[in-house]
Amino acid sequence: MLKTDEEIKELLLAIKQAVSADSINLFTPYQNGFILKCSTEEKGDIIVTGKGVIAECLKTKQTFYSGEIDENISEIGYIKNNKVSSIFAAPVMDGSALTGVLTADSSTCNAFSESVRNTVQMFTRHIARIMERERIYPKLKRDYDGLKKLNEESSKLVSSLNINVIAEKMCEGAEKIASSHAFFFVASGKQFDLIHHTAKLSAISHQLSALDLKGAFINIAVENRHPIYMADMKDYRASVLPFGSENIRSIFVIPLIYENKLLGLFVMSSEKADFLDAFQMELLKVMCNQAAASIANAKLHAEIEKLAAVDGLTGLFNHRVFQEKLSEELKKLNRYSEPTSLLLTDIDFFKKINDTYGHPAGDLVLKGVSKIIRETIRDIDVPARYGGEEFTAILPRTDGKGAKNIAERLRKAAMDKAFDIGHISPIGPVRVTLSIGIAVSPSDAKTKEELIEKADQALYYAKHNGRNRSVLWSEIKG
Ligand code: GH3
Ligand code: MG
Ligand code: MG
Repeated sequence: MLKTDEEIKELLLAIKQAVSADSINLFTPYQNGFILKCSTEEKGDIIVTGKGVIAECLKTKQTFYSGEIDENISEIGYIKNNKVSSIFAAPVMDGSALTGVLTADSSTCNAFSESVRNTVQMFTRHIARIMERERIYPKLKRDYDGLKKLNEESSKLVSSLNINVIAEKMCEGAEKIASSHAFFFVASGKQFDLIHHTAKLSAISHQLSALDLKGAFINIAVENRHPIYMADMKDYRASVLPFGSENIRSIFVIPLIYENKLLGLFVMSSEKADFLDAFQMELLKVMCNQAAASIANAKLHAEIEKLAAVDGLTGLFNHRVFQEKLSEELKKLNRYSEPTSLLLTDIDFFKKINDTYGHPAGDLVLKGVSKIIRETIRDIDVPARYGGEEFTAILPRTDGKGAKNIAERLRKAAMDKAFDIGHISPIGPVRVTLSIGIAVSPSDAKTKEELIEKADQALYYAKHNGRNRSVLWSEIKG
């Protein structure tokens, strides 16, 4: 903490000695008069009367000196035990603002020469500086604390590539800057998902995703792409948020923009009017810039991960991811002791398609078969492009019977499909059949390698026994 009072007192004692005064006193304006802020006298030895020389000095901002005070006639502005014969009063100025009046008094007549008075006046500048520090200290301290918080919270935002975590950190950080409710929306096409908030849940309806902001006050920030602060919305009748939001008296809305793209919206609201000051708004804006950059980063990261995981032609998982997913699935299987099946699918005589219609037509068929696989298997199943014209599907919690069912469904769906390659070749549409090998863990195989090997053996069997069929490894082992 600052010890301005002690500092001023020391300075007054120094002045007293330097100019041989009886007392040195500092008065500060208070309401319509003034009070004693500091004195070289003991507490209670100076009684402020509120008028006289000091009042005049406060008004005119001019120095005053008299070496022949007649206390019966003229008033100084305070009374003390000793008689005062000389008084010098000097305004304490902070820029053009008057912050106090300094007086030097003496019981001797004509006690203060001009040079002495200049010395006193010089000291008023020091006092002004100390008082200024005292005045701005709370703001500086607050600014410092705010910036420290900003630094801490921003670094938390940078450290995550998960949008939900970013939203959570942003809301937490914002609440440390201003204690009110925070809402974090992420843009999804023209709509918004509320992915994190710190309001009481009961006040908010159940629908928090795919929100249409049209008609809600916060949409103004979306349209203008600019933060808006409403200090008092007492008379605002329309809805503020896209869901139940009574009790909002003031609101701050910041669009989350990165490289000209609107990625989301951050909102802080309060039941109180005028809940933010300019400094808090600046801190929140800086944090939101950081959050927007972090979201852009997270999205890019997710896109790269996705690109690295899927096959470019078919959109199915690639071979690497297939291997990872199968390992994960078999690990789970060890825990839950439910079977997992693996389908290995190969298109029959696919080379002929390429040879007859050309490679681009072959690609279209590969895409078409992928689509059929995706549509035929269940949501829990994991399809992948194994390589070339071979596909796999991991079927969790599925035994041989269930797997055979799914394989047959797939085989028939492919057989029934006529692939349109009209814009590539006038001949067409094209038809293909599938051969499918099936192996089941743990009954057929315990390890991943073994399971793939057995599914491959079953596929080989299907190929050499007429194609266009699905075969369980357990069927061929005899
Ligand atoms: P089988 O019934 O024995 O499986 O006969 P097949 O002709 O399908 O057998 P093979 O494995 O010899 O041929 C697979 C062909 O698939 C050869 C290859 O050129 C083609 N192929 C692999 N990847 C792609 C691709 O991405 N696009 C296209 N158009 N063809 C591909
Ligand atoms: Mg093949
Ligand atoms: Mg083939």
